[in-house]
Amino acid sequence: MNCNEAAPLLPTYGDGELDPMQSAEVEKHLLTCAECAARRDEQVALSARIKRDVPYFAAPPSLRSRIDAVLAGTRGTLRSRPVWDRWRWLGAGALAGSMATVLAWLMGSAVLEWRDGTDLAAEAVADHVRATLSNHLTDVATSDRHTVKPWLSARLDYSPPVQDLSGEGFALTGARVDYLEKRAVATLVYRYREHVVDVFVRPAAEGTARSRSPVSTVRGFNVVRASGAGMDWLAVSDTSADALTAFVARLARGDAAP
Ligand SMILES: [Zn+2]
Repeated sequence: MNCNEAAPLLPTYGDGELDPMQSAEVEKHLLTCAECAARRDEQVALSARIKRDVPYFAAPPSLRSRIDAVLAGTRGTLRSRPVWDRWRWLGAGALAGSMATVLAWLMGSAVLEWRDGTDLAAEAVADHVRATLSNHLTDVATSDRHTVKPWLSARLDYSPPVQDLSGEGFALTGARVDYLEKRAVATLVYRYREHVVDVFVRPAAEGTARSRSPVSTVRGFNVVRASGAGMDWLAVSDTSADALTAFVARLARGDAAP
């Protein structure tokens, strides 16, 4: 096997998907060819970087069942020789390019997620600013979470957990119903020192990407996101990102006394 034959097989080899014969030949070539060995090392490093740095997206169960259905339909034909040969041909030739496709898809998804996250943060900040400027932070103004919770439940199709964390400096001052992504969302309002903190709470979305950078800054406001207790939490405030992060993590743990 020479370099021209080995090079297109390297990605498949790296994925452990070559048949034993081809795999052994590639291996033999790699032992004697520093150039191809270096290329293999690069691909291993890239694959490790993708695993480490690119956000992980859980496919929704609906996608799994759709793929299962397609596979069930083709299972009989897959074993027949011509189709199998076509797959092998794909394996040898096209897979060299498929790594680039996968990478492009991953990058595209990452950009989409980033843009989604930014749009959501921007929308939350706009809500926060609007409520502050119009002096309409709370529809129900009370530090009693036993009043706030039923008030929100009566106006939404879910029941957000409500905690008063005044022991940690975050005093509940009330709540309002606001809008994120065109949907009504529970908005808990806290005061932390001289800062107003809005916390948007909504049921955890199925298949949401885990955000790698849950903290962002929009128009001078810090926006911190977290998931937990079956909810997605998004806090907006002009207080420090550190204080906000600890606070949101505490809310998302949902371990305060009921
Ligand atoms: Zn070589």
